Amino acid sequence: MKWKTLSHLNLRVGGSPVPLKTLQLVDRLGEWRRHRVSTVQEYLSPSLTKIPAWGRLAKDQQGRIGILVTGAHFGLLKLGGSPHAQSHLFVSLDALSKRALRKLLIPINCELIQSQDVVLARETEEKPYYLASRLSIRFHYPGCPRGGRISLKNRVMFNTRGEALKAGYLPDSLCRP
Ligand SMILES: [Zn+2]
Repeated sequence: MKWKTLSHLNLRVGGSPVPLKTLQLVDRLGEWRRHRVSTVQEYLSPSLTKIPAWGRLAKDQQGRIGILVTGAHFGLLKLGGSPHAQSHLFVSLDALSKRALRKLLIPINCELIQSQDVVLARETEEKPYYLASRLSIRFHYPGCPRGGRISLKNRVMFNTRGEALKAGYLPDSLCRP
């Protein structure tokens, strides 16, 4: 997967965004609380809307992967309980529902790291990055559940997307490598 630099944030983002309506965050007393989150439409009087916010994989300079939350199309976001609109939040993986997280992690090979009670991820250097089956015409990202079901004896690995295409494989419709 390609990581794109967001220089104003010192972060790199990757993969497709997932819609988010709530975030689970730790408050100052150490309690987990669920907050509503949405895209802000009116800059001057920010209020929660029905438009979900966006969550994308983001990697900081130490290579730690968390989630960058913004409004849709990188617009402003509103976090329930906060009086102001904000441009972004960088949150740990456990702020998201398991379902949203599973979807976001599909494109990468990673291991989870736990530090100071938050869960982040680190990309493992393990190659190859794409897998396919001898019995099918589709290729997958390493975290794709369909890719994961391919038995070891039928598994074909590719280092790059280009190699997979050249070998005659097509991108899977679920993980969209
Ligand atoms: Zn797939």
